Amino acid sequence: MTDPKHTEPVDLLPCPFCGGEPRIAGMAEDYVECTECDATVGLDGNNPEGPIAAWNTRTAAEAASRAREARLRGVAKDALVALPVMIALLRKVGLTSGVEVGEAMLASARAALTKRANK
Ligand SMILES: [Zn+2]
Repeated sequence: MTDPKHTEPVDLLPCPFCGGEPRIAGMAEDYVECTECDATVGLDGNNPEGPIAAWNTRTAAEAASRAREARLRGVAKDALVALPVMIALLRKVGLTSGVEVGEAMLASARAALTKRANK
């Protein structure tokens, strides 16, 4: 082995997208890819510490980011179901200020879901 950087086993964390097994790939072993979904991290200007460190860092950061996004999407989807019911009830009892607040919240939830879907 002429390349000392690969003489020790490397711990790669599971893929942040699918939990799949990653591997070091490329002719120069210069990127990490998921063997399940083909997600990759290469050695570029954004990853000066190298693809392995970048993969492992991204795994933790992106898993947290995706979990947060999934929670927010869940809240927004629940709001799309619950708010129309709440608005109808408020309208029925004549609480117009509550109706306005509910409609504003509904518009926010729709915008949040649309924005994320277009990303
Ligand atoms: Zn994957």
